[in-house]
Amino acid sequence: MHCPFCSHHDTRVIDSRLVADGGQVRRRRECSACGERFTTFESAELVMPRVIKSDGTRQPFDEDKLRAGITRAVEKRPVSAESLENAISRIKSYLRATGEREVAASVIGEQVMEALKALDEVAYVRFASVYRRFQDVNAFREEIDKLHSAQKNLADLKDQ
Ligand SMILES: [Zn+2]
Repeated sequence: MHCPFCSHHDTRVIDSRLVADGGQVRRRRECSACGERFTTFESAELVMPRVIKSDGTRQPFDEDKLRAGITRAVEKRPVSAESLENAISRIKSYLRATGEREVAASVIGEQVMEALKALDEVAYVRFASVYRRFQDVNAFREEIDKLHSAQKNLADLKDQ
């Protein structure tokens, strides 16, 4: 790999270790010309299932969105960046292991809650309360829709 500082073509690996629960290799490299050191991460590029949102639309799996949600929940909590990455790594492994081409967004939500429960109770409660409230809104909307269609059915009956 070329040196990102001086573009010299020869850099050597001075340290290599597994991170993110073995899902990534972290390498420290040193340029043989300018002596600068830098880090590279290597991970397998695997296809993640697509996400089925509660309104039925499909979206590509978005790791940044997952990371943002978890990061928000653990804000100002004693959770290391490494355990956060491990949690993301485990959630991704879980999703891939389902073997499904599409997974419901709620499955991811449940996995995040499981991960946070193990990491930090406060973060878990934060996430769960926001997440459940969001689900309640959706459930509420569904009830309203049902009510509307029931009323419509009733109206249709009267018309006959
Ligand atoms: Zn260099």
